[in-house]
Amino acid sequence: MEQTQTVNAQPDILLVGAGIMSATFATMLKELDPSLTIEIFESLPGSAQESSNAWNNAGTGHAALCELNYTSEKSDGTVDISRALKVNTEFDLSRQFWSYLVRKGALADPDAFIHPVAHVSFVRGADNVAFLKRRFDAMSAHHCFSGMEYSEDPATLEEWMPLVMEGRDPAERVCATRDMTGTDVDFGALTRGLLAYLTSQPGFNVSYRHKVSTLHRGADGRWDVVVIDETTGKKRTVSSKFVFLGAGGGALPLLQKSGIPEGKGFAGFPVSGLWLRCDDPALAERHEAKVYGKASVGAPPMSVPHLDSRVVDGKRSLLFGPYAGFSTKFLKGGSLADLFTSIRPDNIGPLLAVGRDNFDLTKYLVSQVMESPEGRFGALREFFPNAKREDWRLEVAGQRVQVIMPDEKTTGKLQFGTEVVTAGDASIAAVLGASPGASTSVSIMLGILSKTFAATRPEWTPKLKAMIPSFGQSIANDADLCRAVRSETAATLKIVDVPQHANV
Ligand SMILES: Cc1cc2nc3c(=O)[nH]c(=O)nc-3n(C[C@H](O)[C@H](O)[C@H](O)COP(=O)(O)OP(=O)(O)OC[C@H]3O[C@@H](n4cnc5c(N)ncnc54)[C@H](O)[C@@H]3O)c2cc1C
Repeated sequence: MEQTQTVNAQPDILLVGAGIMSATFATMLKELDPSLTIEIFESLPGSAQESSNAWNNAGTGHAALCELNYTSEKSDGTVDISRALKVNTEFDLSRQFWSYLVRKGALADPDAFIHPVAHVSFVRGADNVAFLKRRFDAMSAHHCFSGMEYSEDPATLEEWMPLVMEGRDPAERVCATRDMTGTDVDFGALTRGLLAYLTSQPGFNVSYRHKVSTLHRGADGRWDVVVIDETTGKKRTVSSKFVFLGAGGGALPLLQKSGIPEGKGFAGFPVSGLWLRCDDPALAERHEAKVYGKASVGAPPMSVPHLDSRVVDGKRSLLFGPYAGFSTKFLKGGSLADLFTSIRPDNIGPLLAVGRDNFDLTKYLVSQVMESPEGRFGALREFFPNAKREDWRLEVAGQRVQVIMPDEKTTGKLQFGTEVVTAGDASIAAVLGASPGASTSVSIMLGILSKTFAATRPEWTPKLKAMIPSFGQSIANDADLCRAVRSETAATLKIVDVPQHANV
């Protein structure tokens, strides 16, 4: 069990959950004002044991270089890259913050949490090949994606991803794009690194095996947060001016308990996941890429199959999946009652509306739950034709809780992104949802800061600029800034930098 010190009963900031979101937010706040007192409560015995654990997520540094769900095809056949550009440049904010921490020695070694790996999009069939070419043309014309390459040539594709090409029918029409600036990120190691740095500072404390059971607003405007020590069963109340619900799947129930009007109508739809994992070093050495394919009809965007090179604790592995599933738990270690206890009079309408409007998703999830081991292995062989069953084992991925939002037109809307809910008086904020998730944690925290502290703390702006040099500017609209920021962060984080052309 990780260590805790004495709990401050009246901290300036209280965070629930010790995953990447709370660790990022607490680190930013402490950099901005070292005098802040900060308490984190985590129900598990250590940090990053839920979604932020390396094996509970795919570790893709989501920069929209390979994930086809961030680009959509318009009715005239052109490809809309605006969402990809947003995700791409949000990842630059994370790169800058991590580089700042590495430069100041707060994070010891980037090799502990980030590694360069090619990001590849791979498709089969004439229609998909035509789409990927149009997508490549649209993306590579922008300076943010100018490192992207395209090929239909079997020899080139075999060089890019030998395991994917070997044993494939030569008559099959395939193509791929590749971007060498991609990354694999161990968000668990990053979380632990951030918390170790925080723990070395006065005024910061994290308590493990401490579950937040409820919270309510005191007469003085502070939040009274009820915490249960899971070892002794003792309850205590900790009072704070500002509360951050970085509890992953546990955030929605706490948001509901807070009773803030901004949280009304929100519901959660849990999607579980499975991976196939292979630790054979000889195979892992032959695949240095994250190869993303196309989603099946009805599949949620984050269930796009991909064959990934992973580096965790210095060891290389291969990961394939995720296979989606259905479970009523909101956390991997949660309770089967989670979904049912989250149903309230204010969110039953949105929940039912989402059930009514997402038949394809329901069909897809049922088919995934019913999938046989042979069927799962068949999906892997579409990516890796010569895969052998004995090299792979099944692992349970983290739990995602997709956000269901109140919507005026349809009553309820299923959201696949990350949603931040902040109280009107800026005293509490919650992060809901999953994707692009951990990769964009810095951008998410900047958004929360702007809604909560910006008006009262204008002196933080120059500090933010020191931590994130492009803060307040747009990398997407400024090719020179993009080039400068990327070459600095690539050098510090020891990842690949591709020279970009100057046209915007
Ligand atoms: C299958 C899968 C694949 C993914 N792939 C990627 C990817 O490739 N790239 C990417 O960037 N993102 C990915 N994500 C998303 C990413 O993992 C999450 O966005 C991120 O880890 C969320 O961090 P968090 O800190 O909010 O949540 P978590 O890491 O889940 O941490 C929340 C913590 O809160 C604690 N907690 C909950 N309730 C309470 C309570 N009441 N009291 C005290 N503690 C509590 C939990 O125990 C947990 O430790 C993936 C997610 C999944 C599930």
